[in-house]
Amino acid sequence: MPRLPGSSHRRIEGISYRAKWLVAFLVLLQSTQRGLQVAAECALGECAADLRRNPDSNRAPIQLPEKPNIIVIYGDDVGYGDLNGYGHPTSSTPNLDRMIQEGMRLTQFYSAAPVCSPSRASLLTGRLYPRTGVYSGTPGSTQSTGLSVFNPFSNGGLNLSEITVAQMMKPLGYATGALGKWHLGTKKEYLPASRGFDSYFGIPMTQNECTSNVESSKQFGPCPTMHNNTVAVQPTDVQNIDAAYVANIKDFMTVHKNEPFFFYYSSHHTHLPQFAAPGFLNSTLRGLFGDSLAELDWSVGQILDHVVELGIENRTLVVFSADNGPQLSGGVDGGEQGQLKCGKGTTYEGGMREPGIFWWPSVIESGSISYALGSTLDLSVTAVSLAGGKPPQDRAIDGFDLTPVLTGRSEIGPREFMFYYSGHMLMAIRLRQYKAHFWTKGGLCPENYHDQDCWSSTPLKQHEPPLLFDVETDPKERFPLDLSLYPVQVNEIMDLKAAHSKAMTFSPGEMNLGQNKENFPCCNPSCTPRNSCCACPK
Ligand code: MG
Repeated sequence: MPRLPGSSHRRIEGISYRAKWLVAFLVLLQSTQRGLQVAAECALGECAADLRRNPDSNRAPIQLPEKPNIIVIYGDDVGYGDLNGYGHPTSSTPNLDRMIQEGMRLTQFYSAAPVCSPSRASLLTGRLYPRTGVYSGTPGSTQSTGLSVFNPFSNGGLNLSEITVAQMMKPLGYATGALGKWHLGTKKEYLPASRGFDSYFGIPMTQNECTSNVESSKQFGPCPTMHNNTVAVQPTDVQNIDAAYVANIKDFMTVHKNEPFFFYYSSHHTHLPQFAAPGFLNSTLRGLFGDSLAELDWSVGQILDHVVELGIENRTLVVFSADNGPQLSGGVDGGEQGQLKCGKGTTYEGGMREPGIFWWPSVIESGSISYALGSTLDLSVTAVSLAGGKPPQDRAIDGFDLTPVLTGRSEIGPREFMFYYSGHMLMAIRLRQYKAHFWTKGGLCPENYHDQDCWSSTPLKQHEPPLLFDVETDPKERFPLDLSLYPVQVNEIMDLKAAHSKAMTFSPGEMNLGQNKENFPCCNPSCTPRNSCCACPK
C-alpha cells in the first residue's frame, strides 16, 4: 500500500535530457488525468458510496459499515514531529502510537491554516477559511495583518451562514457532540450548541485567554466551562479539566452506542501555557510540554479503550490531527516540527503539515502508511460521505473524500493541491510534490532561532517569480528549484493560482467586527468588569 515519496513521478535518471523532458511530460499528463479522475469521483463526497456499490474485485472485500461513528480528536499546536510515531525520540505517546500501529499514518496531511481559529473553521466546514469569514484584513490588500484569531471579547465568529459538519450529519441520523476548546466565537449564536452540536462541554477559548490555576491572562476573565450555551462552572480548574472531558465523551458514547454519532474533541493540549494534571507532571523526558502531550495521549487511550469496551470499534473511525504547527517562541515549552521548516504562524511546512492518524480496525489496514495528500479540510466531506450523504451543494466545498485512501483503494488519493492562506492572503500553493511560495513571512519564533526566515520579526516578502520546492524530497524547503528546469510545473501552479483567485469568494471578515467585553461568557451576566466578578455560586 505505501507509496514512496515521488513514486508517482517515476525517477528518470540515466536517459537523455530531451527524453527526460518527454517522459516527465507524459508522466505528468498521466498523473494529472488520474488525479483529476479521482478528484472528480471524490470531490462531492461520493467515494464511500461508490466503494460500497463497486468493490474492487481484485482486492479483499471491504466491510464498510453503513453510518459509522466518527470521532475527531484535535490537538492544539501539536507539531508534525511531536509524536513518537512521527519520529520524536523522547515523547511519551503510547496511545497515539497505538493508533498508528493499528491504523494508518499519513505523512503529508495538512491543517488549513497556520493558527487556531481559521484552522477550526475549515475543519468544521470543509471550506477554505476565508470563505467562512474567519480572517482579519482586507481581501486584495498586500498588508499583512499578523495572526488572525478570535479572542473572548470578539463580536464575530464562524460566519452564521456556514454549515458545520454537525449540521451536515444531523439530517443523516447522527447524534453530535463537541468537547473542549471552540475558538470560533463566544457569543451564544456562535457557540457549538447553536451550530448543530446536540451537546457541548468545554472552555470555548484557549486557556491563555482566561484566568485559572494555569498561568494565564488576567485581561479577560475567569475561565468558564460551558454546558451547551450556559456557563456551568466558573472559574474552572483548568489543570484538571481533562478528567472531566474524558468523562464527558465516555458518557456520550455510552448513551449513543446504538445510534451513529459524530464527536469533535478539541483538546487544549499542547497550546501555551503548558499544563498537566498532577499525575502527569514530571512524568516524561520532555519537561512540561512532554507532560502536557502525555495527558493528551492518555485521553486518546481512554477514548480508544471505551470504544472497544462498548464493542463499537468496527463501526467507529477515530481521527487524530492538530490545528497548526508548534509555537517555536515557547522554546522547550513549544512543540517540534521535525524535519520541516519553521512553525506556527508561518506557511512553511512546519506551520501547517500535521500528524494525520486514522484508526478503524475493520476497515483500515493496521500499520499502514499513506503518502497521499490530505487535509483537515477533507474530514467533514469524508464524514458526510461515510454517513451516506453529500456536503452542501449550494456553495464551494474545498474538501475531498479520503475514503479511497483509508481503504487502501488509492495510493495517490483525491487531493492533488493545497492552498496555504495566512490571514486574507494566499501565500503558497502545493501541487503534487511541488510547492510555490508567492509570499513568505516569519511567525512566533525568537531571534536566536537558527533559521531567520522563521523569526517573528521577519517581514512579509513577495516572491515574483515564486520560490519553488519539491517538498517530498526537500520537506525542509532548503533548496529552491531552478524554475527554468520546471516550466511545466510552474505553469500548472500559476494557472491553478489564477483560476483559484478568480473564483475565490471571501465572506466578510468576522475579525474586523470589533470587540465587546460583555461577550466574555459569565455566570453572572450583569457583572462588570468581567475580569473582576464573573463566578458561579459555589
Ligand atoms: Mg493552535
